[in-house]
Amino acid sequence: MLVLGGTTEGRELAARVPVVSSLAGRTSRPLLPHGEVRIGGFGGVEGLVRYLRAERISAVVDATHPFAATMTAHAAEAARVTGVPLLVLRRPGWSSQPGDLWFRAADLMSAAALLPSLGERVFLTTGRQSIAAFAGLAGCWFLSRSVERPEPPLPQRIEVLLDRGPFTVDGERELLRRHRIDVLVSKDSGGGTAKLDAAREQGIPVVLVDRPPLPAGVLTAATVDEAVAWTAQLG
Ligand code: NAP
Repeated sequence: MLVLGGTTEGRELAARVPVVSSLAGRTSRPLLPHGEVRIGGFGGVEGLVRYLRAERISAVVDATHPFAATMTAHAAEAARVTGVPLLVLRRPGWSSQPGDLWFRAADLMSAAALLPSLGERVFLTTGRQSIAAFAGLAGCWFLSRSVERPEPPLPQRIEVLLDRGPFTVDGERELLRRHRIDVLVSKDSGGGTAKLDAAREQGIPVVLVDRPPLPAGVLTAATVDEAVAWTAQLG
């Protein structure tokens, strides 16, 4: 069985079921899953099809990040071509609570377009590959947090914070205060809510970028337990 992605869910699944985990290789010091691990792209759909056949992979669980849309599309197509069963494991997105000031954006460019009307000092938590979408906003100052250092193009006024979660509400509250943040930007990744809780407490608006759609017809699971049950019934 092949698990795509080194997300928390992917690592939890690899700890419970014997699998080969595949990481893209974007982070220089990844948190490695239990068991066998391969790192790096497959070479598109064709490469993935070759890999599934050569390694006689019995099933694939796509546990990539909800915004890794290319890998998810490739996995769906390779599964269709080979007939290898595929499950997409995605933790649910976030739901708003009373007190939240959320602005939904369809994509990163729409999120950037909303910012000038919401505030000047922006906490950007969308990951280093997303920062280019905000590079043209000369009127905003950015605190950008990512695991790896982002590469240009970057906004003119930016402070880069290199850090990896999980984060606490106390820590997020302190960060928002210290940097006098007016608005938070996040992908709707789901999972830990510390930054959203701290923003709600302080009445700070949040721009939440919607998930890209899943390929049509894919089977999905929301929890690792569901994914383990799916692997068990494969026989
Ligand atoms: P992507 O745009 O969906 O994929 C781009 C290419 O990266 C794929 O075509 C594939 O190359 C390679 N790739 C992606 N995931 C892979 C995997 N698990 N194993 C082997 N190759 C993989 O991906 P992305 O958004 O750059 O994300 C890359 C990785 O970072 C993913 O595993 C994802 O879970 C993780 N991540 C992404 C985000 C995010 O916001 N996008 C956030 C946190 C973590 P080939 O075509 O050569 O096979």
